[in-house]
Amino acid sequence: MKIIKSPAEMQMAADALRSKASPLGLVPTMGALHDGHISLIKRAAKECAAVVVSIFVNPTQFGPSEDFDFYPRSLDPDLKICKDQKIAAVYAPSVEAMFEKGFDTWVEVPSLAAGLCGANRPGHFRGVATVVAKLISICRPERVYLGEKDYQQLVLIRRMILDLNLRVNVIGCSTVREKDGLAMSSRNANLGENERKRALSISRGLYKAQDLFVAGERKVSEFKKVVRKELKKADAEIDYIEVIDPDTLELLEMALDSSRMAIAAKVGEIRLIDNLPLKE
Ligand code: AMP
Repeated sequence: MKIIKSPAEMQMAADALRSKASPLGLVPTMGALHDGHISLIKRAAKECAAVVVSIFVNPTQFGPSEDFDFYPRSLDPDLKICKDQKIAAVYAPSVEAMFEKGFDTWVEVPSLAAGLCGANRPGHFRGVATVVAKLISICRPERVYLGEKDYQQLVLIRRMILDLNLRVNVIGCSTVREKDGLAMSSRNANLGENERKRALSISRGLYKAQDLFVAGERKVSEFKKVVRKELKKADAEIDYIEVIDPDTLELLEMALDSSRMAIAAKVGEIRLIDNLPLKE
Protein backbone atom coordinates (compact mmCIF):
# COMPACT_ATOMS: atom_id res chain seq x y z
CA MET A 1 0.00 0.00 0.00
CA LYS A 2 1.36 3.40 -1.01
CA ILE A 3 1.21 6.28 1.46
CA ILE A 4 1.18 9.47 -0.54
CA LYS A 5 1.60 13.03 0.67
CA SER A 6 1.84 15.22 -2.42
CA PRO A 7 -0.86 15.96 -5.04
CA ALA A 8 1.54 15.42 -7.96
CA GLU A 9 2.53 11.99 -6.65
CA MET A 10 -1.12 11.11 -6.00
CA GLN A 11 -2.08 12.13 -9.53
CA MET A 12 0.61 9.90 -11.00
CA ALA A 13 -0.29 6.97 -8.74
CA ALA A 14 -4.02 7.33 -9.53
CA ASP A 15 -3.29 7.48 -13.28
CA ALA A 16 -1.21 4.30 -12.99
CA LEU A 17 -3.91 2.53 -10.94
CA ARG A 18 -6.66 3.53 -13.35
CA SER A 19 -4.73 2.30 -16.37
CA LYS A 20 -4.40 -1.16 -14.81
CA ALA A 21 -7.52 -1.39 -12.69
CA SER A 22 -10.96 0.05 -13.36
CA PRO A 23 -13.10 1.25 -11.69
CA LEU A 24 -11.02 3.29 -9.27
CA GLY A 25 -12.84 4.12 -6.03
CA LEU A 26 -12.19 7.01 -3.65
CA VAL A 27 -13.19 7.12 0.02
CA PRO A 28 -12.62 10.62 1.42
CA THR A 29 -12.22 10.76 5.22
CA MET A 30 -10.83 12.91 8.00
CA GLY A 31 -9.24 9.87 9.61
CA ALA A 32 -9.69 8.47 13.13
CA LEU A 33 -11.24 5.59 11.22
CA HIS A 34 -14.07 3.61 12.83
CA ASP A 35 -16.46 0.92 11.64
CA GLY A 36 -18.54 3.51 9.75
CA HIS A 37 -15.54 4.45 7.61
CA ILE A 38 -14.57 0.78 7.34
CA SER A 39 -18.00 -0.06 5.89
CA LEU A 40 -17.38 2.49 3.12
CA ILE A 41 -13.87 1.15 2.52
CA LYS A 42 -15.12 -2.47 2.40
CA ARG A 43 -17.90 -1.59 -0.04
CA ALA A 44 -15.45 0.31 -2.24
CA ALA A 45 -13.02 -2.62 -2.14
CA LYS A 46 -15.81 -4.99 -3.17
CA GLU A 47 -17.07 -2.84 -6.02
CA CYS A 48 -13.82 -1.35 -7.37
CA ALA A 49 -10.65 -2.79 -8.85
CA ALA A 50 -8.54 -0.39 -6.78
CA VAL A 51 -9.33 2.00 -3.92
CA VAL A 52 -7.75 5.20 -2.65
CA VAL A 53 -8.60 6.34 0.89
CA SER A 54 -7.87 9.98 1.65
CA ILE A 55 -7.16 11.10 5.20
CA PHE A 56 -7.19 14.85 5.65
CA VAL A 57 -8.48 16.90 8.58
CA ASN A 58 -9.65 19.84 6.53
CA PRO A 59 -9.13 23.11 8.45
CA THR A 60 -11.33 25.06 6.03
CA GLN A 61 -14.45 23.19 7.11
CA PHE A 62 -14.01 24.16 10.77
CA GLY A 63 -15.13 27.56 12.07
CA PRO A 64 -12.75 29.64 14.24
CA SER A 65 -14.44 28.51 17.47
CA GLU A 66 -14.82 24.86 16.41
CA ASP A 67 -12.85 21.76 17.34
CA PHE A 68 -10.13 21.58 14.63
CA ASP A 69 -7.36 21.35 17.27
CA PHE A 70 -9.23 18.72 19.28
CA TYR A 71 -10.47 16.64 16.34
CA PRO A 72 -9.21 13.06 16.92
CA ARG A 73 -6.19 12.08 14.84
CA SER A 74 -4.70 8.56 14.63
CA LEU A 75 -2.72 8.18 11.42
CA ASP A 76 -0.80 5.00 12.31
CA PRO A 77 -3.83 2.90 13.34
CA ASP A 78 -5.69 4.33 10.31
CA LEU A 79 -2.91 3.16 7.99
CA LYS A 80 -3.07 -0.31 9.52
CA ILE A 81 -6.84 -0.47 8.91
CA CYS A 82 -6.34 0.53 5.27
CA LYS A 83 -3.56 -2.00 4.83
CA ASP A 84 -5.78 -4.75 6.26
CA GLN A 85 -8.48 -3.82 3.75
CA LYS A 86 -5.99 -4.12 0.86
CA ILE A 87 -6.27 -0.47 -0.12
CA ALA A 88 -4.02 0.51 -3.06
CA ALA A 89 -3.06 3.92 -1.70
CA VAL A 90 -3.73 6.26 1.18
CA TYR A 91 -3.56 9.95 0.32
CA ALA A 92 -2.67 11.90 3.48
CA PRO A 93 -1.52 15.36 2.42
CA SER A 94 -0.45 18.10 4.83
CA VAL A 95 -2.53 21.29 4.98
CA GLU A 96 0.26 23.03 3.02
CA ALA A 97 0.16 20.37 0.29
CA MET A 98 -3.63 20.62 0.00
CA PHE A 99 -3.66 24.44 0.04
CA GLU A 100 -0.49 25.53 -1.68
CA LYS A 101 0.78 29.10 -1.28
CA GLY A 102 -1.53 31.52 -3.06
CA PHE A 103 -4.52 29.13 -3.03
CA ASP A 104 -7.58 31.21 -4.00
CA THR A 105 -10.33 29.09 -5.58
CA TRP A 106 -13.41 27.95 -3.68
CA VAL A 107 -16.39 25.79 -4.53
CA GLU A 108 -19.73 27.06 -3.20
CA VAL A 109 -23.08 25.26 -3.31
CA PRO A 110 -24.98 28.07 -1.61
CA SER A 111 -28.61 26.93 -1.61
CA LEU A 112 -27.93 23.43 -0.29
CA ALA A 113 -25.40 24.83 2.21
CA ALA A 114 -27.72 27.48 3.63
CA GLY A 115 -29.83 25.48 6.09
CA LEU A 116 -29.39 22.67 8.62
CA CYS A 117 -25.69 22.40 9.57
CA GLY A 118 -24.81 25.30 7.26
CA ALA A 119 -26.96 27.76 9.23
CA ASN A 120 -24.74 27.59 12.31
CA ARG A 121 -21.52 26.65 10.52
CA PRO A 122 -20.93 29.38 7.94
CA GLY A 123 -18.22 28.36 5.47
CA HIS A 124 -18.32 24.70 6.53
CA PHE A 125 -19.70 23.32 3.27
CA ARG A 126 -17.54 25.64 1.17
CA GLY A 127 -14.55 23.98 2.83
CA VAL A 128 -16.00 20.50 2.35
CA ALA A 129 -16.97 21.04 -1.31
CA THR A 130 -13.62 22.58 -2.18
CA VAL A 131 -11.60 19.73 -0.70
CA VAL A 132 -13.82 16.99 -2.14
CA ALA A 133 -13.60 18.67 -5.57
CA LYS A 134 -9.80 18.78 -5.24
CA LEU A 135 -9.63 15.12 -4.17
CA ILE A 136 -11.78 14.10 -7.15
CA SER A 137 -9.67 16.23 -9.46
CA ILE A 138 -6.44 14.73 -8.14
CA CYS A 139 -7.55 11.06 -8.12
CA ARG A 140 -10.13 11.15 -10.93
CA PRO A 141 -11.94 8.13 -9.48
CA GLU A 142 -14.88 6.51 -11.24
CA ARG A 143 -16.69 6.11 -7.90
CA VAL A 144 -16.69 8.10 -4.70
CA TYR A 145 -18.11 6.60 -1.49
CA LEU A 146 -19.85 8.89 1.00
CA GLY A 147 -21.89 8.17 4.13
CA GLU A 148 -25.54 9.03 4.71
CA LYS A 149 -24.47 9.92 8.24
CA ASP A 150 -23.50 13.32 6.80
CA TYR A 151 -26.66 13.59 4.77
CA GLN A 152 -26.49 17.28 3.83
CA GLN A 153 -22.89 16.75 2.70
CA LEU A 154 -23.94 13.78 0.55
CA VAL A 155 -26.72 15.74 -1.20
CA LEU A 156 -24.48 18.78 -1.66
CA ILE A 157 -21.58 16.78 -3.12
CA ARG A 158 -23.95 15.03 -5.53
CA ARG A 159 -25.09 18.49 -6.72
CA MET A 160 -21.51 19.77 -7.03
CA ILE A 161 -20.51 16.73 -9.10
CA LEU A 162 -23.45 17.31 -11.46
CA ASP A 163 -22.85 21.05 -11.70
CA LEU A 164 -19.11 20.75 -12.36
CA ASN A 165 -19.56 17.80 -14.75
CA LEU A 166 -17.16 15.72 -12.71
CA ARG A 167 -17.31 12.24 -14.14
CA VAL A 168 -17.75 10.23 -10.97
CA ASN A 169 -20.58 8.16 -9.52
CA VAL A 170 -21.53 8.93 -5.93
CA ILE A 171 -22.32 5.88 -3.83
CA GLY A 172 -24.27 6.81 -0.67
CA CYS A 173 -23.70 4.30 2.13
CA SER A 174 -26.00 3.74 5.10
CA THR A 175 -25.02 4.80 8.62
CA VAL A 176 -23.21 2.30 10.82
CA ARG A 177 -24.29 2.42 14.47
CA GLU A 178 -23.10 1.14 17.80
CA LYS A 179 -25.22 -1.72 19.20
CA ASP A 180 -27.23 0.76 21.27
CA GLY A 181 -28.03 2.94 18.23
CA LEU A 182 -25.46 5.75 18.54
CA ALA A 183 -24.24 6.68 15.04
CA MET A 184 -20.51 6.02 14.79
CA SER A 185 -18.50 9.21 14.55
CA SER A 186 -14.86 10.13 15.05
CA ARG A 187 -16.08 12.75 17.54
CA ASN A 188 -17.56 10.02 19.78
CA ALA A 189 -13.98 9.41 20.96
CA ASN A 190 -14.15 12.80 22.70
CA LEU A 191 -17.33 11.96 24.66
CA GLY A 192 -16.97 11.27 28.37
CA GLU A 193 -18.85 8.31 29.87
CA ASN A 194 -21.81 10.42 30.95
CA GLU A 195 -21.89 12.36 27.67
CA ARG A 196 -21.84 9.08 25.74
CA LYS A 197 -25.06 8.06 27.53
CA ARG A 198 -26.66 11.45 26.90
CA ALA A 199 -25.67 11.31 23.21
CA LEU A 200 -27.96 8.29 22.83
CA SER A 201 -30.93 10.67 23.09
CA ILE A 202 -30.27 11.64 19.44
CA SER A 203 -30.77 8.19 17.90
CA ARG A 204 -33.52 7.47 20.46
CA GLY A 205 -35.30 10.59 19.20
CA LEU A 206 -34.99 9.41 15.61
CA TYR A 207 -36.39 5.97 16.46
CA LYS A 208 -39.29 7.57 18.36
CA ALA A 209 -40.02 9.71 15.29
CA GLN A 210 -40.06 6.57 13.14
CA ASP A 211 -42.51 4.93 15.57
CA LEU A 212 -44.77 7.99 15.35
CA PHE A 213 -44.65 7.85 11.56
CA VAL A 214 -45.59 4.17 11.59
CA ALA A 215 -48.48 5.04 13.95
CA GLY A 216 -49.79 7.43 11.28
CA GLU A 217 -48.54 10.85 12.46
CA ARG A 218 -47.59 13.23 9.63
CA LYS A 219 -47.41 16.65 11.35
CA VAL A 220 -43.77 17.67 11.67
CA SER A 221 -44.55 19.80 14.74
CA GLU A 222 -45.57 16.59 16.54
CA PHE A 223 -42.35 14.79 15.57
CA LYS A 224 -40.34 17.76 16.77
CA LYS A 225 -42.18 17.84 20.10
CA VAL A 226 -41.29 14.23 20.87
CA VAL A 227 -37.65 14.53 19.80
CA ARG A 228 -37.17 17.84 21.63
CA LYS A 229 -38.44 16.21 24.84
CA GLU A 230 -35.97 13.33 24.42
CA LEU A 231 -33.01 15.66 23.83
CA LYS A 232 -33.97 18.01 26.67
CA LYS A 233 -34.19 15.06 29.08
CA ALA A 234 -30.55 14.30 28.22
CA ASP A 235 -29.59 17.96 28.59
CA ALA A 236 -28.44 18.08 24.95
CA GLU A 237 -28.27 21.52 23.40
CA ILE A 238 -30.44 21.40 20.27
CA ASP A 239 -29.08 22.98 17.10
CA TYR A 240 -31.90 21.73 14.85
CA ILE A 241 -34.54 19.04 14.56
CA GLU A 242 -35.98 18.99 11.05
CA VAL A 243 -37.90 16.80 8.67
CA ILE A 244 -36.49 17.23 5.17
CA ASP A 245 -37.03 16.32 1.57
CA PRO A 246 -34.27 13.78 0.82
CA ASP A 247 -33.26 15.32 -2.53
CA THR A 248 -33.68 19.08 -2.05
CA LEU A 249 -33.19 19.26 1.75
CA GLU A 250 -36.29 21.48 1.86
CA LEU A 251 -37.76 21.73 5.38
CA LEU A 252 -41.19 20.11 5.53
CA GLU A 253 -44.25 20.75 7.68
CA MET A 254 -45.99 17.53 6.71
CA ALA A 255 -43.97 14.30 6.49
CA LEU A 256 -44.08 12.06 3.43
CA ASP A 257 -42.98 8.45 2.96
CA SER A 258 -39.71 9.71 1.47
CA SER A 259 -38.90 12.24 4.24
CA ARG A 260 -35.89 12.07 6.54
CA MET A 261 -35.51 13.45 10.01
CA ALA A 262 -32.20 15.20 10.70
CA ILE A 263 -30.89 16.26 14.10
CA ALA A 264 -27.86 18.24 15.29
CA ALA A 265 -27.20 18.74 18.98
CA LYS A 266 -24.33 19.45 21.31
CA VAL A 267 -23.66 17.12 24.22
CA GLY A 268 -21.25 19.00 26.45
CA GLU A 269 -18.81 20.52 24.00
CA ILE A 270 -19.27 17.82 21.32
CA ARG A 271 -21.53 18.59 18.37
CA LEU A 272 -23.18 15.47 16.96
CA ILE A 273 -25.42 14.92 13.95
CA ASP A 274 -27.63 12.04 12.86
CA ASN A 275 -30.51 11.37 10.50
CA LEU A 276 -32.83 8.58 9.41
CA PRO A 277 -35.67 8.11 6.94
CA LEU A 278 -39.00 8.32 8.79
CA LYS A 279 -40.15 5.23 6.94
CA GLU A 280 -37.55 2.46 7.05
P1 AMP B 1 -15.44 11.90 8.20
O1 AMP B 1 -14.13 11.26 8.46
O2 AMP B 1 -16.26 12.12 9.42
O3 AMP B 1 -15.32 13.14 7.34
O4 AMP B 1 -16.27 10.87 7.33
C1 AMP B 1 -15.77 10.34 6.14
C2 AMP B 1 -16.87 9.60 5.44
O5 AMP B 1 -17.36 8.55 6.27
C3 AMP B 1 -18.07 10.51 5.12
O6 AMP B 1 -18.59 10.19 3.85
C4 AMP B 1 -19.04 10.15 6.22
O7 AMP B 1 -20.39 10.38 5.89
C5 AMP B 1 -18.75 8.67 6.41
N1 AMP B 1 -19.17 8.22 7.75
C6 AMP B 1 -18.87 8.79 8.93
N2 AMP B 1 -19.48 8.14 9.94
C7 AMP B 1 -20.19 7.13 9.37
C8 AMP B 1 -21.04 6.10 9.87
N3 AMP B 1 -21.29 5.97 11.18
N4 AMP B 1 -21.59 5.23 9.01
C9 AMP B 1 -21.35 5.35 7.67
N5 AMP B 1 -20.55 6.30 7.13
C10 AMP B 1 -19.98 7.18 7.96
